[in-house]
Amino acid sequence: MHKIESTATLKAIMGEYFRSLGSGAKKIAWCTSVGPAELLRAAGFEVYFPENHGALLGATRAAMDHIPEAVKCGYSGHVCSYTTSDIGAYLRKETPLQDHYGLQGIPKPDLIVYNTNQCREVQDWFGFFAREFKCPIAGVHPPRHLEEVTDAEVALVVKQFKDLVPICTAITGQAWDEDRFKEVVKLSKEATLLWQRVLKTAASDTPPISFFDGTIHMGPIVVLRGTEVAKAYYAQLLQELEGKIAQGQGFLPKVRSRIFWEGMPIWGKIRMLSDLFAENGAAVVASTYCSSWVFDQFDEADPWTSTARAYTGIFINRGEGAKMKMLAEWFGEYGIDGIVYHDSKTCFNNSNAKMGMPERLKAITGVPSLIIEGDLCDLRFFSEGQSITKIETFLEQLAESPAVHSRKRTVQ
Ligand code: SF4
Repeated sequence: MHKIESTATLKAIMGEYFRSLGSGAKKIAWCTSVGPAELLRAAGFEVYFPENHGALLGATRAAMDHIPEAVKCGYSGHVCSYTTSDIGAYLRKETPLQDHYGLQGIPKPDLIVYNTNQCREVQDWFGFFAREFKCPIAGVHPPRHLEEVTDAEVALVVKQFKDLVPICTAITGQAWDEDRFKEVVKLSKEATLLWQRVLKTAASDTPPISFFDGTIHMGPIVVLRGTEVAKAYYAQLLQELEGKIAQGQGFLPKVRSRIFWEGMPIWGKIRMLSDLFAENGAAVVASTYCSSWVFDQFDEADPWTSTARAYTGIFINRGEGAKMKMLAEWFGEYGIDGIVYHDSKTCFNNSNAKMGMPERLKAITGVPSLIIEGDLCDLRFFSEGQSITKIETFLEQLAESPAVHSRKRTVQ
């Protein structure tokens, strides 16, 4: 049976991370998941990521109890269900962090920082908590939906990052240490490059890790990047996965087709979907989601510009041309036979199936696509029976397609 042994280490370090947030040893900054975490960590904060909490609410399905509470206080049930489930959980004074890690509640922020590189929703979401906790809030507002990321655009973001420094030092009482920032960026880069290598093990003929596994193992690269802990974890995981490749131990006994997952995970259905694809011999080997925490442009020699460039150039913040180019490259790299788009009801920003891109990408790459409707946390928008039928039909057609059998893969 497919088992990743490093999962035990993962659980231990995630537990330590959450308990450290509850210890009160350091000031706490909240940050968006692709925000300037290195800067906040270098300034002396422990960093907490509400999106990680949203994913936890989705994965445990507690979101379904919490969303109505946010709706009652004026948030539409059709906006970001991370936002509505997180606000609802707060209003109901509940969090999985209580049961899982013994925390009293979510960590109280000393500073809240968001970056609209992913969406503007985070501004409204984090603004709610800034009002609730009477906490200072600061935003980074980069140019959006870029085809190319120009030097002028990066300079704009560098300026906004630098504007955060006096805000941070006023709260921590610590002087800004540029060398510490370089050190954190270096650690973050090392972890992110290891994470990239972890993901790329799935390009092998016997992929040892799936997209669904990746949604679990990405925890440290989201919440602990910039620490030795994250770096050590991905070195361990990589070693295990490379060992599996050497022994021909993939997560599927026989791979009939190789699938790319585009869009958000459906957190409450990870296990069901993982089993469904596996039962149909389909290896979901790559995704835009897990790849979103690969910041290979980080450079400790130029920490401001390199982090500004990396965070501005993420997939979700790109124009369609740039996105299609990235997807086409991933298709080649992972030997992709088909792509499944998750058209998420409450996240327009991370859904790329609403404006005809699947057809245009297919015309260029020849890779067939399927669109399934659902949501990251709100399972009212996911029809399980209908989705199973669509996925099984798609995978069956794919497995029988002469193109899949004859496609010469360009796996690195
Ligand atoms: S990108 Fe989507 S899921 Fe993430 S915070 Fe923004 S709206 Fe919510």
